[in-house]
Amino acid sequence: MSDTIQTTTTTELDMFAKLEKYDHEQVMICNDNRTGLKAIIAIHNTILGPGLGGTRMWSYKTEEDAVHDVLRLSRGMSYKAAISGLNLGGAKAVIIGDPKTKKSEALIRKFGRFVENLGGKYITAEDVGTTTVDMEYVSMETKHVVGLPESRGGGGDPSPVTAYGVYMGMKASAKKLWGNDSLGGKTVAVQGVGKVGMNLVKLLHNDGAKIYVSDINDDALQLCYKEFGTIVVDGNDIFDLDVDVFAPCALGAVLNTVNINRLKCAIVAGAANNQLEHEQQHGPMLADKGILYAPDFLINAGGLINVYSEYTGYHRDNAIRDTEKIYQTTLAIYKKSQDEGIHTQQAAVEMAEKRIHDILMLRATV
Ligand code: NAD
Repeated sequence: MSDTIQTTTTTELDMFAKLEKYDHEQVMICNDNRTGLKAIIAIHNTILGPGLGGTRMWSYKTEEDAVHDVLRLSRGMSYKAAISGLNLGGAKAVIIGDPKTKKSEALIRKFGRFVENLGGKYITAEDVGTTTVDMEYVSMETKHVVGLPESRGGGGDPSPVTAYGVYMGMKASAKKLWGNDSLGGKTVAVQGVGKVGMNLVKLLHNDGAKIYVSDINDDALQLCYKEFGTIVVDGNDIFDLDVDVFAPCALGAVLNTVNINRLKCAIVAGAANNQLEHEQQHGPMLADKGILYAPDFLINAGGLINVYSEYTGYHRDNAIRDTEKIYQTTLAIYKKSQDEGIHTQQAAVEMAEKRIHDILMLRATV
């Protein structure tokens, strides 16, 4: 048998301590010698519904790095779904290996069979290192997959919807701070003008914002300048700009001690996942500097809302309408943060946990 569900690595990785720490339900380790598939599927919480989260393919330096990533990301998905009012749990998968050299139809379809084995408890989608084409292969082995191309009845690229959600979160932040949610005439620095960043720039440009951008990809910067007349900033100088809003749309963990000390903005609102290097340290640090932080897992939830809509019968208008709710939820988080004297990320986490707990409790009776 080349399909095995291994349990042998648990001692070295201290797996159960890790699962207990963040209250994970289940981890499935998938191995297939024929295709070279080595994958981990982590299901964090299924109280609200099946765990939905993308499959990341990445050449992790160590197995422990892969485990750490999949546990952290799956927990984030639980919060993202819960705070967005979706009836979804949180899960994520990682495939270990360089997607450029290790990926094949057989490997991806084998992965699809493991997803099928979970009987719908886990729904997969594309993520870093996987594509809509890969999800088509997955769909040949299981129906528990979203993020299919539009030609296959899916929602296609979710990035414009993600950008729209970030824009909603940014407008709500402006409303909270300045009493008016217009971004016209405001200065915004966007770090990373890839799929989400570029769509965000388009929305901001339509509003008449003055936009600064940075990226390591010169072609993306050129395109952005040509289309929207954006001002290009050299690499890390983006952190020093005296702007109204800083929008991280490239990398995680950019809000660390060094960078926060450099920021001169009033609002941070962007698409990148896990922007705070250490939530409990850098959430309060931003608040102490008087910077309003729009929690990333809330305002970048448009992509998840888009694929959820695909799961329930795709219609982009529904996805956009549901994404608009990010505006009100952002304001509710700011109110909770102010009323209870806690930083905004903590307020968001508590709201997400409360919804999961409330739904669990209602099922405890009748
Ligand atoms: P992308 O790869 O299309 O774009 C990222 C851009 O950031 C690229 O243009 C890249 O060159 C640039 N970049 C990389 N390193 C940089 C650096 N040091 N400085 C400046 N620019 C840099 O990715 P995307 O889909 O636009 O996603 C952007 C972020 O939003 C990611 O963190 C992603 O996890 C998150 N996110 C995306 C979605 C979605 O729907 N695509 C949903 C939720 C969260």
